[in-house]
Amino acid sequence: MLTQNLGYPRIGGQRQLKKACEQYWAGKIGLDELKQIARTIREENWQTQVNAGIDLIPCNDFSFYDQVLDMSLLLGVIPQRYSKVLTEVKTNQETDLYFAMARGYQKDGLDITAMEMTKWLDTNYHYIVPEFTAKQEFKIFSEKVFSEYNAAKQSVGTKAKPVLLGPVSYLLLGKEKEEGFERIDLIKQLVPVYVEIINRLKQQGAEWVQLDEPCLALDLSKKDKEAYEFAYRAIANRVSGIKILVATYFEALLDNTALAVNLPVAALHIDLVRAPEQLDEVLSLIPTHLQLSLGVVDGRNVWKNDYEKSLGFINKAVEKLGTDRVIIAPSCSLLHSPIDLDLEIAIDPEIKNWMAFAKQKLNEVDELKQIAVGNTELLNANKKAIQSRRASQKVHKQAVKIRVEAIAKADATRTSAFPVRQQIQRERFTLPSFPTTTIGSFPQTDDIRQLRAKFKKGEFTVDEYEKKIEQATIDSIRWQEEIGLDVLVHGEFERNDMVEYFGEQLDGFLFTKNGWVQSYGSRCVKPPVIYGDVSRPKDMTVRWSKFAAAQTDKPMKGMLTGPVTILQWSFVRDDQPRDVTTNQIALAIHDEVLALEAAGIGIVQIDEAAIREGLPLRKAKRPHYLDWAVKAFRVTASGVKDETQIHTHMCYSEFNDIIEHIAAMDADVITIETSRSQMELLHAFAHFEYPNEIGPGVYDIHSPRVPSTEEMVALLTKAADLLPAQNLWVNPDCGLKTRKWPETKAALVNMVAAAKQARAQI
Ligand code: GLN
Ligand code: ZN
Repeated sequence: MLTQNLGYPRIGGQRQLKKACEQYWAGKIGLDELKQIARTIREENWQTQVNAGIDLIPCNDFSFYDQVLDMSLLLGVIPQRYSKVLTEVKTNQETDLYFAMARGYQKDGLDITAMEMTKWLDTNYHYIVPEFTAKQEFKIFSEKVFSEYNAAKQSVGTKAKPVLLGPVSYLLLGKEKEEGFERIDLIKQLVPVYVEIINRLKQQGAEWVQLDEPCLALDLSKKDKEAYEFAYRAIANRVSGIKILVATYFEALLDNTALAVNLPVAALHIDLVRAPEQLDEVLSLIPTHLQLSLGVVDGRNVWKNDYEKSLGFINKAVEKLGTDRVIIAPSCSLLHSPIDLDLEIAIDPEIKNWMAFAKQKLNEVDELKQIAVGNTELLNANKKAIQSRRASQKVHKQAVKIRVEAIAKADATRTSAFPVRQQIQRERFTLPSFPTTTIGSFPQTDDIRQLRAKFKKGEFTVDEYEKKIEQATIDSIRWQEEIGLDVLVHGEFERNDMVEYFGEQLDGFLFTKNGWVQSYGSRCVKPPVIYGDVSRPKDMTVRWSKFAAAQTDKPMKGMLTGPVTILQWSFVRDDQPRDVTTNQIALAIHDEVLALEAAGIGIVQIDEAAIREGLPLRKAKRPHYLDWAVKAFRVTASGVKDETQIHTHMCYSEFNDIIEHIAAMDADVITIETSRSQMELLHAFAHFEYPNEIGPGVYDIHSPRVPSTEEMVALLTKAADLLPAQNLWVNPDCGLKTRKWPETKAALVNMVAAAKQARAQI
């Protein structure tokens, strides 16, 4: 029996990679230093995995920004607009090109937009979307995978297993950038390059290569399925002497089971955490040669593995296949887990005993193998921990359970229908057409971050701290008034994160010191852990919203995070259904909305950035999810007066297939991310004749690039072609906390000018 890992977090235990990349971008360190830091992280990761007794250790799972972008570089899929970075920028060309594709490029007289970024399947990790043209050519461009394999081989020998995104998923996860072709048809041109890559890896000494094919667990068209058959047959015909492992995760294979198990490869990995039900069918269809990798340790959560349950799967597989054909593994790459629970010295020991991070999960994989071959002692210790969690008073609160069960339809409905509310709200707020606003946060400068950090450490008194946050808030309000924004925000200076801030004030949550997970590029998040029934002991945001509102005559938005987003961006309980946890949070946020309204706040934004991301990957499971997710949002937004304007905000979403549910949320105003996709996302709203007000983001906040007024007017003109102009708001794509003040100011001044032009012209 073998053990393997599919991928390991690459940011480093102290977020070294994040810091190094940011220093490199700021010109504070050179490329050599950046590369040295990366080498050290990779080396440490490999050693950790060797020490944990893992047999097949991933390499090329490291990335400076994103593993899909790495694939685009490897395959030479570089959009035309970046060619100038290669011809005109003389230093560090491949690295500069790489970061230009990720982040845009605005120096050396060049001004090139970044590539689109979107969520990686149903996670909160974002990847850079490959762009394909009709005449797309593929050829090996970057040597990264080969050099990383070499380094891994020197470090861990034959255990080193290079990881690539498989050819079909690579195409399916990309986008056509011109009309007249389907990207899946590019498979014929793409496969020869995969063959070349795999053969080179084999020549270098690789015994295994892992091809991630998460799309095998999605709904596939006939053509997609044929592409799978074609691609893996073609690879099998032209590659020998190296074992190919196809890795699927996040869903069940379902109707793709026969296709998957019959691919001519050495091994198949399936996710038995998200989709335990698929094991039986896989075992019944599996051909005699195929090895099966069982993803039994949850790569996306922080809970200790229930060994008894996992052993059930392992034993079943061993019975049918024998130990030689079974591989034990985490469910997916550990990229989505925090790194090391041992670093958490402040977590309640009772609860900590229920948890495991990436490093501990590697041990679990190894221990499961040991138990499977007879070590029962390890099993008993695990049983005790699992049992203590099930029975703990820290988890179960009767009053919360009762309140959730009592939620009725009326608790999820606004008093009047939208047209009535819209009229009342227009009279109340008297905003111009194309009203301008921002999404909530303003740049979190080093000063602000240090202030919060020092306050946490006790280096400031509450008074000193609050005075400084008040000053930052006042400054931002004065500045918003000066540039002429219509609906103001307080700036969120008191928050380090839109979920953590609420989690810290709610019961049932705990926080880690170091539980960072990569979100995109150098951005990491530290998701709270929901371990017990959730309730709200006191007001959470009223103090700051009230303070801010008192500083201005303009309307001030209260700013909350919605229940689905809090759920989605936390590590959640795996001992009760997600909808139950969501409803518990929804009631807490509902109470906060009412408290804000009572404090005189007329506009409340409830961010539901993650509604789309929570969507089950398989269509058949979506209606149930959307039903409870939308209802939970409505619970938070109901119970207020008609004159109270409820906003919601969503980033990085495709709305096509969920638009009716977005409409069913019935927010008075929705702001969405649209600029990188040039308003494409608005088509869904137009087609549906979305009735409520909407603010399509007119500039990309994930890049430091400052958009011109003309660009934004052009986007607004497009938006007004699609939707009634009187329903349009003008705002950036998302919050501005990751930006710096100079670019933020320049961009918002241009944005206000664009709104003025729109008022005059459209
Ligand atoms: N209000 C949040 C902010 O402005 C929203 C962030 C988000 O949607 N990701 O930062
Ligand atoms: Zn957003």
